[in-house]
Amino acid sequence: MMEKLIEGVGKLGIELNATQVKQFELYYQELVEWNRKFNLTAITDYEEVQTKHFLDSLTLALALREEEIRQPNFNIIDIGTGAGFPGVPLKILFAEPKLVLLDSVGKRTAFLRHVVEQLELDNVEIVVGRAEEIAHQPRFRQQFALALCRAVASCATLVELALPFCQIGGKFIAQKKGEISQEISNASKAIATLGGKLDQVKKIEVEELGGERYLVIVDKIYSTPEKYPRRSGVPKRHPI
Ligand code: SAM
Repeated sequence: MMEKLIEGVGKLGIELNATQVKQFELYYQELVEWNRKFNLTAITDYEEVQTKHFLDSLTLALALREEEIRQPNFNIIDIGTGAGFPGVPLKILFAEPKLVLLDSVGKRTAFLRHVVEQLELDNVEIVVGRAEEIAHQPRFRQQFALALCRAVASCATLVELALPFCQIGGKFIAQKKGEISQEISNASKAIATLGGKLDQVKKIEVEELGGERYLVIVDKIYSTPEKYPRRSGVPKRHPI
């Protein structure tokens, strides 16, 4: 079971226990099953899901300190989580932090509710809505130690969607593929405007994943001005 994943995370210095391996196996089965009815992912091959979804999500562990993530108030929001990536694999790895999974598509969040129940994951809240709107609700605004985003938009857009959720002292990590230096320099104005500061761009070198992968890590250092994020669709159409 999950041999590719076990081998891959081993290279990240992570050892999965038997319960976690079973949870990943069940997650895979549910993903493939639900994918017959709903369009959740183009990747359904057993080995590919293990590497391109599960292992790729867990590379985030390279940017997180365990003692930080296990702090009692540590909480995470995954914005545009789709079928749960990267939030659900991270929750399987680290059980403690409270996790909010946010997506604008109800079919995906229905799948997430089912998976969270099947995998018996505690302290997970699933929210249906657009980041542009949810980020203005007091319960979510500037409340998170960590905001995550994989494969949702370009950096400048992502920063506007994600930094409003981060508390001061918290951070945003975007998972990115391919050539990104231009994209990052295009995001510098948005980062400063939203109250962030680029901490580092961490290159991920894991053979199983192929290609170039990066974690773009942005610290939240100032409060985000009230007007951000702008109306739904604007951060994407007209990035700052
Ligand atoms: N993060 C997942 C992954 O890496 O597999 C899903 C990526 S999928 C390409 C993008 C997801 O972001 C979709 O599920 C879409 O519904 C969601 N999304 C895009 N824009 C959003 C927004 N403004 N607010 C909330 N969800 C959004």
